Amino acid sequence: MIDAHIHLDQYHSNLDEAILRWQENGIEAVVAVASNLQSSYEILKLKQRFPEFVYAAIGHHPEAPPPASMELAELLDLIKQERKHLSAIGEIGLPTYQKKELYDRYKEEEYISVLEVFLQMAKEIKLPVVLHAVHEEAKKALTCLKRQQIPHAHFHWLKAREDVVSDIVSSGYYVSVTPEVCYRERDQKLARQIPMDQLLIETDGPWKYHGPFKDRETSPLLLKEISECLSNILTIPIHSLREKVTTNTKRFYTEGTYEIRNSVNT
Ligand SMILES: [Zn+2]
Repeated sequence: MIDAHIHLDQYHSNLDEAILRWQENGIEAVVAVASNLQSSYEILKLKQRFPEFVYAAIGHHPEAPPPASMELAELLDLIKQERKHLSAIGEIGLPTYQKKELYDRYKEEEYISVLEVFLQMAKEIKLPVVLHAVHEEAKKALTCLKRQQIPHAHFHWLKAREDVVSDIVSSGYYVSVTPEVCYRERDQKLARQIPMDQLLIETDGPWKYHGPFKDRETSPLLLKEISECLSNILTIPIHSLREKVTTNTKRFYTEGTYEIRNSVNT
């Protein structure tokens, strides 16, 4: 299985050992996403250290001040330079949880324009995007994706109204669920709304969870339980479920996606 969204640069224990343990437990790869410029450099180093295991995505997380113009320029250059080592641009999007504080200091338009700059880059160099865009921002981000005609987007840990989710999936975008799908009805309802070919699973580690995962370290090892829960929710045999989400992750995050999708779309 593949963890479709993890902040691998935020794990400070011995990663060689941890990854070995994850691999022994059936974790084939992870999509490691960046939070800002410095974190993007870290992710690129991790890609060098674990080239097969890490699918790298670099970008600037939206629940923070927007990047200064120098920082944004450096990040865009880095994306271009490292294109062949990247699987996506992310994580990018619009703030929700810190919105109140951030919008006291920065304008929403500034966030929208940074998002659109990343989307234009993604289109130019043909990379998918990883989005943090939840609740009301999901619809706003979707509007940006459509305006920029972005073919490949992954809405990670999505929370949105049913009609917005429908619009996201009918636009061909992918959606992932987290360990919350094991204990929150909202996420179970979401999982049922995602077509099987567009569903991914993620931990967003090292973020901590509640319910059955309370006091447990978040790592890709939780994918085992997420997939068991999903298998029950969607009444799909566990093996088919795991195979399906793994294939989806590879289709989305590895080379050739653009060509495949574009040939299907035209
Ligand atoms: Zn994240």
